[in-house]
Formats: sequence, structure tokens, C-alpha cells
Amino acid sequence: MIPVNAFTLGAEEEQMLLECIKTNWISSEGPFVKEFEDAFAALHGRKFGIAVANGTAALDIALRTLALKPTDEVILPTFTIISPASAILHTGAKMVLVDVCPDTWNMAVENLEAALTPNTKAIVPVHIYGLPVNMQPLMDFADKHNLWVVEDAAEMIGQTAYSKPCGSFGDLSTFSFYPNKHITTGEGGMILTDNEELAKKCAYYRNLCFNPSGRRFVHEEIGWNYRMTNLQAALGLAQLGKLRQNVARKREIGALYHHLLHIDHAAQLPLKQTAYAQNIYWVFGIVLKEQAPYSAENLALKLLEKGIQTRPFFWCLHEQPVFRKMGLFEGQKFPNAENIARNGLYLPSGLGTTNAQIAYVAQTLNELLA
Ligand SMILES: *Cc1c(COP(=O)(O)O)cnc(C)c1O
Repeated sequence: MIPVNAFTLGAEEEQMLLECIKTNWISSEGPFVKEFEDAFAALHGRKFGIAVANGTAALDIALRTLALKPTDEVILPTFTIISPASAILHTGAKMVLVDVCPDTWNMAVENLEAALTPNTKAIVPVHIYGLPVNMQPLMDFADKHNLWVVEDAAEMIGQTAYSKPCGSFGDLSTFSFYPNKHITTGEGGMILTDNEELAKKCAYYRNLCFNPSGRRFVHEEIGWNYRMTNLQAALGLAQLGKLRQNVARKREIGALYHHLLHIDHAAQLPLKQTAYAQNIYWVFGIVLKEQAPYSAENLALKLLEKGIQTRPFFWCLHEQPVFRKMGLFEGQKFPNAENIARNGLYLPSGLGTTNAQIAYVAQTLNELLA
């Protein structure tokens, strides 16, 4: 079976983990956590890094620091993993959805104007699958209307937009280090910001709202234990040294699929680039066209029969059963997002996926879609 994601760890990770064991530093109090935060922030040209337990926790905390009210509105794409939506929901604010561009699969910035109301307080751009959101006009729009930007850069570690690192745009930017991301700590996440006050709040919510200046165990607010361990940070530091080569390998995987696949008649392939970024193929997705001989679901089954694991695309927020049950997004339609959610799937494209496996996947797809 060719797994949809495979990755490899090496001697560098082994040595860093061994260091934790030798020094008996395994909790979040260990020295690697701060080291990883500083290195990751520096890589993005940012002042503060707050390491957390995972990417969803990073979003929970980032949104919480904005102190949104129930009447406040946050704009986000309907095509996303659920994490940004659950983080907004936890704040009590209202989600306002926008559709995506049919070619980049990212939130269509030209749709922001129509989503804006006097209650809009923030935008959560979510970079999707390897190409970033068109950040320059998005930031101009946010500046003009005095909106917070919380940038979900989980899929964009090592990517740039307009030659600036993804994760350097938002008032707060968040990352995940799950094993399918460009670097991994097993589970893990990070928040980056240049705002000292927000950084302090992030650290506060991460650590149960222990009062940094008051009496220990006396709390003014309820937070979370979303701390990262020294073990995770050790992995993160070792992985950081491999980011450039990981991104290069992902681009190689993307180029190889583009070269080997001959399915344009039946499927839309990822864009190689936009005017402001080169694809880093977090995953290599395809969207089946109407004339394709299989639905995405059936193609996934056919591929599985041939030993190839795939994943369907994200499901739109406005069609999530959980939100429908809450009475949200009733009657709303976002045709571009609905199309890619229904007809999209992604192919094995992990850092540990071999060229021979990619060639087999491409050949199998060429035959199935011929
Ligand atoms: C992976 C991912 C997350 C969630 O990260 P976890 O570490 O799995 O909680 C959030 N947003 C996006 C866009 C992601 O791809």
C-alpha cells in the first residue's frame, strides 16, 4: 500500500531526542521550547513565537486573544479544515464565509467586499494545499477597514507570497507541525506575532491563565493547557534544519506528477504558480471534471484496489452537518468550493513518498482516466 503521507526522521532528530533524555528535560519547561520558538520566529522575520500543542490549539489561542463579542463577525473561506471554524466558534463570534478561486482553491479576495459589514472585526485567510492566499490585496483590505488578520499558515511552512514568508502577514499567524506538514514535531503548533501584548496573551491562554505576576493557582480567567513539550521542540529544531530540502523535495514531487500525469481531459491539476508564489505542494490535489469516467469517491476506491491511498478534499463549512444542526449558513451556496469539495482528492505526496511510487500512481491514474 502506498500511503497518502509518508515521512522520514533521521540521525538529527534521534540526537536531539537523546539530548532530552540525557538531560531529563522532557516537559514544556525544557530549554528547546524557547529555542524553537525563537528560531521559528526569526525564520519568518517575526518578534515572538509561542509554541503550542497543535495547529488547532494555535488557532484557538490566536482567536481568543482578539476578545471578540458575539455580535462581531469573522470572515473565512468555506473551503478549509474545520480548525479555524471551531476556533472562531469558541470565541462566540459569528462566521461569515466566502467562496474560493476555482484555480488556486484559496479564498477569493475579491469576495471580501461583499462579506464586509459594520460588525466585521477579523479575517482568517487559510492557505490551501501549497499555494497561498493572495495576501497583498487581502492585507490592503484589512488595513483599509481596520480588521485583524489571523493567518492560518499550517500548510505553508517555507512558502512565500510576494517574496515575503507566509506566516509573516497576520497580526497573528498560526502553524501546525503534524507529520504531514513541511516540518513535523509529531503533534505541535506555533503562533507568530510582532505584537508583544498579543504574545503575552497567547502565553497566558496556553498555560491555564496562570497569572504571571499574581499568586500562583489564583486565576482571573479560564485557559487551556496547550503547552508544547521539550521532546516536540527537540524534533522541531532538528526538522528546521531540513525545511529548505523538504520544500525542494515537495516541489520535485509536484513537478514529477505534472510531468507524468496525462489526465487534463478528465481532471484539473494544481497550478504550478501564481503571480505571487510558486506551488510547494503541501499535497498534490486533483479535481475531476464532469467528463471524467469516475466520481472522486469511486476513483479513490479504484486506486485503493491498486494499492494507492488517497484523501478526499476538505468539506465546505456551509455544508458541515455540525453547523447545519446549529442553524448556521442556511441556504448559502458557494459553487466553486462545492465543486472542489465534491470532485477533489489528493494523491500520495509525502516527503517519504518515492519517485517509483509516484510513477506508479501516475501510470495507474493515466490508465484509469484514459
Ligand atoms: C493541519 C492544519 C490545521 C490543524 O493542525 P493540527 O496540528 O492537526 O491541529 C489547521 N489548519 C490547516 C490549514 C491545516 O492544514
